[in-house]
Amino acid sequence: MRVLWYTTKVMKDKLEKLFSQLPDGSALIVTDSINRRYITGFDCEDSMLAVTADKALYITDFRYLELAERHFEGTGTELAFLAPDDQLSALRDFVVRSGAQVCLLEEASLTVSSWRRLKELFGDFPLKDAGAALANLRAVKSDAEIACIERAQSFAEKAFSKTLGIIKPGITERDIMVELEYHMLRFGAEHTSFETIIASGPNSSVPHARVTDRKIESGEFITMDFGAKYGGYCSDMTRTVAVGKPDAEQLAVYGTVQRAQRYAIENIQAGITGREADSFARELITANGYGECFGHGLGHGVGLFIHESPRLSKLSQNVLLENMVVTVEPGIYIKNRMGVRIEDMLVVKPGGSRNLTSITTELIIL
Ligand code: ZN
Ligand code: ZN
Repeated sequence: MRVLWYTTKVMKDKLEKLFSQLPDGSALIVTDSINRRYITGFDCEDSMLAVTADKALYITDFRYLELAERHFEGTGTELAFLAPDDQLSALRDFVVRSGAQVCLLEEASLTVSSWRRLKELFGDFPLKDAGAALANLRAVKSDAEIACIERAQSFAEKAFSKTLGIIKPGITERDIMVELEYHMLRFGAEHTSFETIIASGPNSSVPHARVTDRKIESGEFITMDFGAKYGGYCSDMTRTVAVGKPDAEQLAVYGTVQRAQRYAIENIQAGITGREADSFARELITANGYGECFGHGLGHGVGLFIHESPRLSKLSQNVLLENMVVTVEPGIYIKNRMGVRIEDMLVVKPGGSRNLTSITTELIIL
């Protein structure tokens, strides 16, 4: 099915792919801000989008009027400027006017009250979920999207290298976070891609620890999980570094995570499932006696959102396809003592992958 309106050639290609997977006569209402940005290239939280194969309606309010007019000029997109209370009924009118037979929604991102209102407005009109179709579409990245992720990653890596210089006993987790985020922004990041994790000593046994004012002591591991954003796209990496000389147990744990991560990276390729990818690392960690200490999945897709499709986990049936961008981040967490996680980002390719992370995974001892 041909898509007749578009904002750019890239967006046209994406919508053609999407509509080729949807039933004929579909209209799609996009309430999720990231999906809306993905489709239109226009970044605006307070708006709504409805598309059919040959028409589009973008609704926002007065504050974004001028920016929206500029962005959508010449694209054939109908614009409406309405207060939030009037937006849903305008979407319903557009869908009915378009002659669509079925209306697709992203059920997972609707609030209960929006869902109730839509049910009321649409009555018997068939409504279906398009969440999975949109997630699948976003999972495979174009060259332009991969270039944004690589650029974001380059800011994160430069900031990481700079930040290593200040890490020593006596400084706090917060000091490290501030330094790292400052440099990411300085190098060109639009934002951080998520709340930076700096977890030292016993705090590192919590996979998603909050940054505290705890002072770093000699002989501890620090897990640093962070990312930068560029062009709306996220990067994601983790390194665990040692301050002072690590003991034999720390080295054994680090070595196991490092080998598991490397083995998974060597074996990830297009065509395998998320479950198979996860098992490469999990089997090695389990064989070394730490199976119980690796309580999360191996990785996730990265794009406009930090955690997106596909999942790499014990249960994931997602098939890895060429040009998906995924993380590989095994970890071992020993309660109240220590934790180690190492995370790289890969572009999945036939027969292998391309690693977007260039910082060494050898243990950095400061
Ligand atoms: Zn991460
Ligand atoms: Zn991650």
